[in-house]
Amino acid sequence: MQTWAIVVAAGSGTRLGFDHPKAFVKLDGRPLLAHSIELFEDHPAIDRIVLVVPADWQEPTTLLADDLVAGKVAAAVAGGATRAHSVAAGLAELPPSVELVLVHDAARPLADAELVDRVLAGLQDADGCIPVLPVTDTTKRVESGQVVETLDRGSLVAVQTPQLFRTSALRAAYERAGADIGNATDCSSLVEAAGFRVLTVPGDPRNLKITDQSDLARAESMFA
Ligand code: C5P
Repeated sequence: MQTWAIVVAAGSGTRLGFDHPKAFVKLDGRPLLAHSIELFEDHPAIDRIVLVVPADWQEPTTLLADDLVAGKVAAAVAGGATRAHSVAAGLAELPPSVELVLVHDAARPLADAELVDRVLAGLQDADGCIPVLPVTDTTKRVESGQVVETLDRGSLVAVQTPQLFRTSALRAAYERAGADIGNATDCSSLVEAAGFRVLTVPGDPRNLKITDQSDLARAESMFA
């Protein structure tokens, strides 16, 4: 059974305040993207890797993969306007023989092999498996600065990547969503909306998403 990883790295990273894309900001001396490439290159269950990067960063990405001697990298393709469009660009690179696909954000450079193992083991007979963390803060829905509703924290989770799917389910979810993919902030939401079954496994609190400078500083301190 073929399992490929798609790493989406085509975000601009404007919130980080650099003039180059977030995936190329350095963490522990290497671009964020390098951490995800190494994770999947070294993981025995992953056969090939597709990298999705900003259009004018394809060549530097290929050079980065060469530097890392990452022989599993099958392609470095240009992303789209939103994360969901970037995933679609990566999905288009997968040959029909690929049964399982892991989709991972380059913005989560601290994901480790145990988390990948957990997600792979958690799929069972379902269509998808995603890592989640309990929500510890009380969570409310707010409109125009006014509280509309207090949500039941017990049934809420925060969602991470890598997310695992049967490739057929992810493709079908994209076909069903058509032009409406733009608002999907993760792949699972499209797969769920298409009626597929997605299971959860415990995520990793260290697998933080780099959004701003304080996240980068926290991630750096984890390496120190
Ligand atoms: O913007 P955000 O941090 O939610 O992005 C999550 C991931 O999706 C990041 O790794 C980012 O590079 C990627 N992304 C993308 N294409 C976009 C927007 C985000 O590949 N158009």
